[in-house]
Amino acid sequence: MTIQILTNDTIGKIAAGEVVERPSSVVKELLENSLDAGSSRIAIDIRGGGVDAIEITDDGCGIPQNELDLAIQRHATSKLKSFDDLDRLVTLGFRGEALPSIAAVSQLSIRTRVPSNAGGALLEVDFGDARPVVTTGAPAGTTVKVRDLFANIPARRKFLRQASTEAGTIGRIVAAYAAAYPDIQFTLHSDGRRIFVTDGSGDLISAAAGAFGVDVGNAAITIEHLDPDAEVPGVNVSGWVCAPSVNRSHRQQMLLFVNGRWIQNRQLTFAIEEAYHSLLMVGRHPVALIDIRVDARAVDVNVHPTKSEVKFADERSVFRAVQRSVHSALARAPRDELPRIGFSPLPERPTERQAGFAVPEVLSGRNEPQPENPEETRTTQITPRSLPVLRVLGQVSGTYIIAEGPEGLYLIDQHAAHERVMYEKILGAMQSSGVDRQPLLDPMIVELTPEESSVFERSIDELNQIGFEVESFGNGTVVIRAVPAIVVGVDIRERFRLILAELTAGGVGTSWLDSVAISAACHTSIRANQQLSLQEMRELVHQLERTRHPRACGHGRPTMLLMSQVDLEKQFSRR
Ligand code: ADP
Ligand code: MG
Repeated sequence: MTIQILTNDTIGKIAAGEVVERPSSVVKELLENSLDAGSSRIAIDIRGGGVDAIEITDDGCGIPQNELDLAIQRHATSKLKSFDDLDRLVTLGFRGEALPSIAAVSQLSIRTRVPSNAGGALLEVDFGDARPVVTTGAPAGTTVKVRDLFANIPARRKFLRQASTEAGTIGRIVAAYAAAYPDIQFTLHSDGRRIFVTDGSGDLISAAAGAFGVDVGNAAITIEHLDPDAEVPGVNVSGWVCAPSVNRSHRQQMLLFVNGRWIQNRQLTFAIEEAYHSLLMVGRHPVALIDIRVDARAVDVNVHPTKSEVKFADERSVFRAVQRSVHSALARAPRDELPRIGFSPLPERPTERQAGFAVPEVLSGRNEPQPENPEETRTTQITPRSLPVLRVLGQVSGTYIIAEGPEGLYLIDQHAAHERVMYEKILGAMQSSGVDRQPLLDPMIVELTPEESSVFERSIDELNQIGFEVESFGNGTVVIRAVPAIVVGVDIRERFRLILAELTAGGVGTSWLDSVAISAACHTSIRANQQLSLQEMRELVHQLERTRHPRACGHGRPTMLLMSQVDLEKQFSRR
């Protein structure tokens, strides 16, 4: 073959491949144009998963008639004059590629009017062939219609997924932007059916509820400004995070925006997940919208063909700011939402009736506020109660504590509950006054397997930090001189080896120290199949009530289940 310059038609089709990979990328580009146009209402209508038709109507600034044919020229943009302008960019678009790319692979029409002009204009393009712009009546703003996407590129069309899958992807993109731009009213229809609408009221939580449903709206906790001492200079984070009770098996509802642009970033996704550490079961992921604002000069938006990734000048600062912001929002999570066990799905929220349910006083004896533990008052402000007061009724299978509370019947896993208590005690001691050690009268010599020895060497510092006093004695033996004072009534030798055995499998914490703390908490706790007296159970539940995150152990397993009053009434046909 000889070297030839490609025809414009071929160049257009090839370039289109980069920008418009599938219907959802068309929607994303058109949506970003409507946002850049300063719209306050954006309506999107798709048919056949966007392959048959995409129509997007906005009430933005419109395109002047004499510029309309330029809008579909490659590298023609109103958003940027020189490369240096990227440092001041306030728009989502800047490459001038989207409209020409879409025009090359579809039947495109743009009807538009600049609000201050009396007349509007219409431009139609047939798979790259543009007709002359004509004057026409039009509402202020712009309507872009895209029909028969990829009809001239059969190979591309063949690789599209089912219409319903494409529609789902489009729905996710529109929902993400709708949630991030609460001032703008978004409507999405698919095949004539309304998928969602947001109210455009400016309220972040209403937008979240509109875009993702009332469950998300109800569980969303607004991210607030960090305290001055925690603030990260140059990085401002807003948005919301859902209380851990609302979570997903996927990461698709962990949304990251940087200066209004939706991006993907593994590090920041990890920062969010880390803040939820130990609050979610393994394999579950948070629902959150994180809106990061940095100076335009501190972020490079020109690093990815679909602009879905950015590069930060100082990624660590952004990471830190996101993690702290999510942490502090989660600290305000309602503490009394529990996983529910029911015989049937339970859509209802707690009713007045449930809220008014009272433990008969004569039985409870626990309705009075408990005196604060003097230890606690010394080191922390007063710890707020993180669970309602529960009345312990008994134990099942030597493993689960049955208790009654305002919402219904609680089943508490005694091991998981104690593990949570121990974990927070260890962390609390490290963070405040320091750990209390309990010296052993006779230092204990423990022989370890080679595997245990190697994990022991790696963990000596951490074990000492959490309250052990241990050192290597050579030849696979270690000596334990002291244990954390909170560890009582267990076979130290056996538990110590279990801690090391778990750690040989790798840590589950946010750091090795955290992993060691989680493992130590787990293996020094009460176990299953252990009879407890009523007094011991009450004490345990009382301590659990005082933890910051009573609903899951350090490994993320739930500590308790709730069978609500409603469940019980339904099952006994009382309602
Ligand atoms: P870019 O967004 O990178 O500038 P596009 O190809 O997406 O490139 O759009 C080209 C130009 O068309 C934009 O710079 C803008 O001036 C104009 N435009 C596109 N869509 C709209 C719209 N919905 N409202 C107003 N102007 C628009
Ligand atoms: Mg654009």
